Amino acid sequence: MGTKTFERLRESALDVEPLVCARCGFCTFVCPAYNDTLWDSQSPRGKLYQLRELILKNQPIPEDFAERIFKCTLCGACQEICQTKIPLLTFWQKVRQEINDAGLWPKVVHLLDESIQSSKNIMDLDQEDRMLWTDMVDDIVEDRIDKPAKVAYFAGCNISFKGTLAPIGENTIKVFDHLGIDFTILGEEEYCCGNPYFVGGEWDKAKELAIHHLNKLKDLGVKTVVFNCPGCHRAFNEEYPHMLGKESVAGIEFLPFSQFIAWMLREGKLKFTKEYNEVIAWHDPCELGRHQNIYDEAREVLNAIPGLVLREMKHSRNKADCCGGGGLLKGTNPLMSVRISGRRIEATEKTGATILASECPSCMMSFMDGIENTGKKIKFKDLSQIVVEALGL
Ligand code: SF4
Ligand code: SF4
Repeated sequence: MGTKTFERLRESALDVEPLVCARCGFCTFVCPAYNDTLWDSQSPRGKLYQLRELILKNQPIPEDFAERIFKCTLCGACQEICQTKIPLLTFWQKVRQEINDAGLWPKVVHLLDESIQSSKNIMDLDQEDRMLWTDMVDDIVEDRIDKPAKVAYFAGCNISFKGTLAPIGENTIKVFDHLGIDFTILGEEEYCCGNPYFVGGEWDKAKELAIHHLNKLKDLGVKTVVFNCPGCHRAFNEEYPHMLGKESVAGIEFLPFSQFIAWMLREGKLKFTKEYNEVIAWHDPCELGRHQNIYDEAREVLNAIPGLVLREMKHSRNKADCCGGGGLLKGTNPLMSVRISGRRIEATEKTGATILASECPSCMMSFMDGIENTGKKIKFKDLSQIVVEALGL
């Protein structure tokens, strides 16, 4: 048992979210953490009930409660269905912030923090190695690092440092090259976007990262930034203006890969002509879908590819189940994470698709682990890979 109470939440106790909860339980059955444990204490309703008691009785935050708060993918399914419209996503972030105030953040989150502070990335690796992911496309990239251009590509830590994810970035560079786009990459000046701080509830620690990135982009004259990682995209598109004000991002648009490709299709700059005879089920990443309401463009891109058959899963768009990798769950509770991804893979099989696709390096990691763990035959492909293959690049 810690000694600190939920002081910040208690200060606003009269209108605080646990008191608003009607305990209807609609959030329970959509929660991947509840579905993994079948314990009401792990459901959003159960956690809110316990929070209510802790706040009203001003009791210290129990360690097991702090652990339960991190057994959550921050998928937002509870917020989507909540009958009393509680803004649960931001609320869970605020609870995590107080858990850090109480010194009860999980060790792995502290390690991420230390790594970002000392190395500017989540892997605690040398920033000089940040561009290793471009090895296969270095002829296209080499003169573009830190050069002024209207378009920038932001790879993010996962694509930059995890070799298995590097092809996602390479694919995007190949598409830029195919389109003749003049683009820039920040290189060693690309730092962690701050996502671990946002999901850990520590906005203040991400401020310097945000200011650094926005200043760099402005110095280079960038007007459009393209992302393959929804976590990075959401950091720039939502959290930076939330922290620093809307004027901080004025004149720059932030596009996930799907929106960028859909834009190119609509402008007539890109056309798919080759047959791509695959049956694909689309998984909506939580940080693009429920968090930012971006659903249509990926489907627009897939539907523009001749021969491709797109299948919807029973739970898709705002009802999509999580891949299991969000909210730092993969680091804090890897076994729970892989069980959640396994359930999504089983749901994919029911569509008859042979490929599960999404646009998210974190989803890709989760699904690769889930496929290995379940022994299922289905393949995972990132949208960037499908686009490159369909274009024959
Ligand atoms: S965000 Fe997702 S995992 Fe977390 S409590 Fe809500 S439904 Fe459950
Ligand atoms: S859906 Fe909303 S009101 Fe109903 S139990 Fe869940 S958090 Fe409470």
